[in-house]
Amino acid sequence: MRWAQLTLAENDPGQYDLAFWLDYFRRTHSDAACLSAGGCVAYYPTKIPLHWRSPWMKDTDPFGDLVAGCRKQNMVVVARTDPHAVHQDVYDAHPDWIAVDASGKKRKHTASPDLWITCALGPYNFDYMTEVTKEIVSLYKVDGIFTNRWAGSGMCYCEHCQQNFQAAYKMELPRTQDPHDPRRRNYILWHQQRLFELWRLWDAEIRKINPAARYIANAGGGALSELDMKTVGELAPTLFADRQARRGLMAPWANGRNGKEYRATLGRKAIVGIFSVGVEEDYRWKDSVQSDAEIQIWVADGIANDLRPWFTKFSGAIYDRRWLKVVDDIYNWHYRSERYLRNEDSLARVALVYSQQTAMFYGGPQARQKVDDHISGMYQALIEARIPFEMAHDRLLDPAHIDRFKLLILPNLAALSNEQCEQLRQYAARGGSILATYETSLYDEWGVRRKDFGLSSLFNATFNGRIEGPMQNSYLRLETDPSTGKRHPILAGFDGADRIINGARRLDVSPVAKYSNPPLTLIPSYPDLPMEMVYPRVPKTDIPEALLQENGKSRIVYFPWDIDRVYWEVLSADHGRLLRNSIEWATNEEKPATVFGPGVIDVTVWRQKESMTVHLVNLTNPMMMKGPFREIIPIPNQEVKIRLPQGKKARKIQLLVAGGSPRVRENSGVLTVTVPSVGVHEVVAIDLA
Ligand SMILES: [Zn+2]
Repeated sequence: MRWAQLTLAENDPGQYDLAFWLDYFRRTHSDAACLSAGGCVAYYPTKIPLHWRSPWMKDTDPFGDLVAGCRKQNMVVVARTDPHAVHQDVYDAHPDWIAVDASGKKRKHTASPDLWITCALGPYNFDYMTEVTKEIVSLYKVDGIFTNRWAGSGMCYCEHCQQNFQAAYKMELPRTQDPHDPRRRNYILWHQQRLFELWRLWDAEIRKINPAARYIANAGGGALSELDMKTVGELAPTLFADRQARRGLMAPWANGRNGKEYRATLGRKAIVGIFSVGVEEDYRWKDSVQSDAEIQIWVADGIANDLRPWFTKFSGAIYDRRWLKVVDDIYNWHYRSERYLRNEDSLARVALVYSQQTAMFYGGPQARQKVDDHISGMYQALIEARIPFEMAHDRLLDPAHIDRFKLLILPNLAALSNEQCEQLRQYAARGGSILATYETSLYDEWGVRRKDFGLSSLFNATFNGRIEGPMQNSYLRLETDPSTGKRHPILAGFDGADRIINGARRLDVSPVAKYSNPPLTLIPSYPDLPMEMVYPRVPKTDIPEALLQENGKSRIVYFPWDIDRVYWEVLSADHGRLLRNSIEWATNEEKPATVFGPGVIDVTVWRQKESMTVHLVNLTNPMMMKGPFREIIPIPNQEVKIRLPQGKKARKIQLLVAGGSPRVRENSGVLTVTVPSVGVHEVVAIDLA
């Protein structure tokens, strides 16, 4: 449930305070530890030639001492290895183990110039690191091996990579980033295949020695991650999400997002969230410490999204003690609340689908803008709308994975196979709702453009072959249904507005079947300068910019423009409102929890064996999008309306952070709980009978 990682520096042995660390693990109720064992530097008396021992350890066994201490405290122990760098002696003995760049030069380590970068896909990992792994498991009977930076440091052109790729595909390694270059496309597949081969090899060798132990790769993530998450979800017994802190422009929900991304393919397996106590920016201040508030918000959002906390500390020497208390407090709260943090299931009814194939084969080198920014915009809109949601993976669109959701959101899910499109049509036919944007299904799984959307019939839209943008000064006209004199529910709250801003890119589409009274129509771009020229040349069209349909329980919303990506870029309140209204209209049912009150809150809802919880994480802060939180700014009272699971009654209701029992009203299976002011995090815990 609670992980501690101590990553030793080479000079720690003999100098750092072992007893202090073991005591800290005990005080924080950490029940699992990840400890540095070998790879780049060995912290135990290894017998393997070329396995570099820390020169500070002399004839001691620092790793063994840590393992023994943790075992005494009944902790699970996972050994950490890092194979990405080696010393000169390895280079001299096996020059072919070193990674080679596109110009044919062996790669020196950029941060530590005495070291060399290794090739991940050749004999260094497959042979040598396999021996290191076996030795560690044999000597210490650890519960697992966790490798850092095992998957290579970018493209490698060494002799092994050249030969192996040639043998597999009868072609040379790619020299471009273009995913439509057959060599690049095959490389993307081969690279994954090799790494999964390595994963299986290490896992098998570990289990031969200790059948209960497993290999755990530092791998995975969302749409931009390199390794197929469906396969990762099958291979990994548990997984550690390695997003250690915020950097640059990043919302604090990014930690929780990791949990959702991993859970999409790992299901109910435990997912652990690695957080660093330090500043995570490009300048890599590895010995730094963040503000208390920043650590608190980051970890809270992870816990609310079912990540088990894992603190990581680099080096046994402590230069700044400020983080010790804040982590101690979080872990002790987590320990006391553990019963309500062993989640069995999320009760979310909305899922945001992500697609690695869209990022790889449609996004290519622009995947961040073309793919990830759409997801982030939709994510931000869902957070602001306080809608509990999960994420889903596009290679797991079978009923077992998606029928638990009432609504699937496809944020520019451009590259979808015919089979995936069929799965989505079937989902809608079973009563599921879908909200999709922009180029969703306009490309096949290899990123090759289709003549028309794969989901044309579902969207009631056919593509006319033209993509417009970037558009300047274009608008959306908000229409009234002439037969009723009313506006569609997706336009709720726009009273007084005849039009709102459009996005930046749109597809020229026409309805397939007759589509009368579209709620939003296009006002095409018109000059934005000189000011005398700024007036609409075409004040009204009948071109729909949202296509809505209802078939029984299923509701479909398709926006043929980049509403989600522009939301991430511009954060217009109108786009946020339009997304929220559309998501609520398409879902067409009460949320499992509805939270009323001011502020920005991440809301998640969980079932445990005999209880349910609603987490509220208070993201309200002037530093919400960039920069570390300086202080926690409490939000005032929130009213939380909670739908109890069918046939269940509330036996006891508690607030796990504020403590005690809140004010509650109950009305036919719906509780209304008044949550007093929330600082970082509150959990409404309901014991069920
Ligand atoms: Zn190589």
